[in-house]
Amino acid sequence: MNRHNNIIIGAGASGLISAITQARAGKKVLVLEQNHKIGKKILVSGNGQCNIGNKVIHISRFHSQNPAFVEKVLQGYGFKEIEKFFTSIGLVLIEGKEGKMFPMSLQASTVVALLEYEAHKYGVEILCDCTVTHISKEGKTFSLQTTQGIKRCEQLLIASGSPASPQLGGSNSGYAFATKMGHTLIPRHPALVQLCSDEHWVKEASGVKVASVVTLYANGQTILEKKGDILFTNYGISGLAILDLSREVSTRLATFDYCELSLDLLPTFSKEKLTNLLLNRIQKQSNKPLSLWLQGILHKKLIHIIIAQSKTKVKVEKELNRKEINKLIHSIKNIKLSISDTRGFKSAEIATGGIDTKEIDPQTMESKIVPNLYFAGEILDVDGDRGGFNFHFAWVSGLRVGL
Ligand SMILES: Cc1cc2nc3c(=O)[nH]c(=O)nc-3n(C[C@H](O)[C@H](O)[C@H](O)COP(=O)(O)OP(=O)(O)OC[C@H]3O[C@@H](n4cnc5c(N)ncnc54)[C@H](O)[C@@H]3O)c2cc1C
Repeated sequence: MNRHNNIIIGAGASGLISAITQARAGKKVLVLEQNHKIGKKILVSGNGQCNIGNKVIHISRFHSQNPAFVEKVLQGYGFKEIEKFFTSIGLVLIEGKEGKMFPMSLQASTVVALLEYEAHKYGVEILCDCTVTHISKEGKTFSLQTTQGIKRCEQLLIASGSPASPQLGGSNSGYAFATKMGHTLIPRHPALVQLCSDEHWVKEASGVKVASVVTLYANGQTILEKKGDILFTNYGISGLAILDLSREVSTRLATFDYCELSLDLLPTFSKEKLTNLLLNRIQKQSNKPLSLWLQGILHKKLIHIIIAQSKTKVKVEKELNRKEINKLIHSIKNIKLSISDTRGFKSAEIATGGIDTKEIDPQTMESKIVPNLYFAGEILDVDGDRGGFNFHFAWVSGLRVGL
């Protein structure tokens, strides 16, 4: 049997930063990690480049049922404070698009290597292949059953993340431990995830990537609009604009809302500009098939879909007139796609929901229910936009536990 002052469940972003901060303050820390190696999500993040944070931290980029909690946690912890920590472990950060920050090496593995080195330097003990299966508290002591025996400690940090991406260690276990100890769980849904559609035309467009403006409708009402690339796939739709909308779709599908996307396939052309362009191209005597005529403008795979959706009867160029052009333009700029589901936790980068933050002290991240029990990172009911905001919350909440 092992006894430690501080145990951390999870060697992910929040667990590692907290371990280093606590160890630097002279505490004896043991980190338990179920995976064979530490920081698996960090390693794959940002397509292997690790979008470690964002230069512009604003409360609007975070989502929770308790925004006041997020505001308090982030108070005094903007990007500069996070950069200071990473500088202290030897990592130089550079700025990409939209304030996104990356290690200068553009290699996520360098982030994990430096975190691991720093943790060991300050005497943090990290036990991989060690899954925590049960937690109990006897008096002031937490007793953890693990796949490597029983561990005991006085202070326990649960930094076990969310169920997103189980292949990288995503797990529900932290929620089970927390709820058993009296905490409340706010329902979790997959987010930053691709969307599924049963519409047959989407399969036909599989592989086509276009810049788009996507509008989400729920039960016919406009909810949200996002700009960015979209990619048609054999299951539905992916791409950055879709990931950015997915949080809203996921939570709405869970309450049985009817979700539909409207896609503008030529967002750089206003309706007027596109009308003029198309009208000016019409050659009145031409027998060029409509599908060929549109090839100069749209991706081949999209053309017959657009023609079918527009319900135009026109077959050749010379039959085109303003009315028929309007039908085509409406279809190009407002093609509708009903959404049947998300691709689920397996494909999601993050999960919404988590432990109710009303039960957590935002200064120290300590439970208001169980003394000396702490939470950090994605296990809490806080999630962020794409762009480094999820890591930002994980780093900040982990740092707070170590103070
Ligand atoms: C593919 C992908 C790309 C991403 N890219 C970015 C990005 O570029 N920028 C960004 O800001 N965010 C990104 N994210 C999100 C980001 O990785 C997470 O928000 C962040 O890692 C959460 O940190 P965490 O410490 O809460 O949890 P995690 O990093 O998930 O760490 C939790 C750890 O706990 C371990 N664990 C769980 N249960 C147990 C148990 N019972 N016993 C022992 N160990 C356990 C897990 O194995 C895991 O290692 C990405 C996520 C994914 C999946």
